[in-house]
Amino acid sequence: MRRLEMEYFDTYYFCSIAQYLIEESDLDFASTLAEFTDPVGEFEREDYPKDSYLHRFVEFLVERILFEQNKYMAVDIEHAIDENGYKKVILEDHKVFHRKCLGDDYRYTTFELAILHYHGSIEKMKVWITNNIDESQFDYLDVAAEYTNYLESQYYDVIDNIKRDVLHLLFQNRMFLMHFNTFMSDVLQGKSSRKNMPQWVKRAVYYRDNGRCVMCQKDLSGLVDVEEEYEKQFDHIVPLEQGGLNEISNIQLMCSCCNQKKGTQTYTSNVYRFLYDD
Ligand SMILES: [Zn+2]
Repeated sequence: MRRLEMEYFDTYYFCSIAQYLIEESDLDFASTLAEFTDPVGEFEREDYPKDSYLHRFVEFLVERILFEQNKYMAVDIEHAIDENGYKKVILEDHKVFHRKCLGDDYRYTTFELAILHYHGSIEKMKVWITNNIDESQFDYLDVAAEYTNYLESQYYDVIDNIKRDVLHLLFQNRMFLMHFNTFMSDVLQGKSSRKNMPQWVKRAVYYRDNGRCVMCQKDLSGLVDVEEEYEKQFDHIVPLEQGGLNEISNIQLMCSCCNQKKGTQTYTSNVYRFLYDD
């Protein structure tokens, strides 16, 4: 069995941005989201891809945020150089390299911290600039891009690690999944037809929902209550009739009775069970 070791490096931060983007759909972010939706929307719908649409969205988000932060760092350095001169900023220990983080004076960007967290060592942006870029060719956007290229070997590794942690948390949040799938069903035009649901999808959803109907909480495991096999149903949160996808993040566990009531409506439940009674 594959194990997952959660690192929790800014995991909640990425999760809340994901939630904000999808649930608030703030117009300020429309162009950012378009960078994700435009290329994805060009392709035909896939049925139950293992590299799910949620995976792709999270990957886009993490990569985008980390690159953006690198860019801001480079912009700050550019401004500091305009004001104080290259020599004073790069060769002396200018405050632009001291980033506030957890109350300390830090000299790393979030991205650098992520790499340090996962890999243990890194050539800091400042050192890298000193060694690789001279005063005459200083251009902040190039610096951000080139520094990211330099980090490339570790870059995708780090993104994969963060992505995995973020996915693990987001997958538990059915309300988020409902909003995400409503959003995705707009992005990917057309309709999906009913397909055989792969076992790995059923298993993942069954374990996430603890073998219970997400609406009425009835036990469907057959361990606590004896239920007929037909009682256990895997429901599309956004129904196929509403344009919903055959996608792992769009599936939830329901009893046949609740599923019948739901019909072709889009909804889920945000009810979870306490781990113990007080
Ligand atoms: Zn039920």
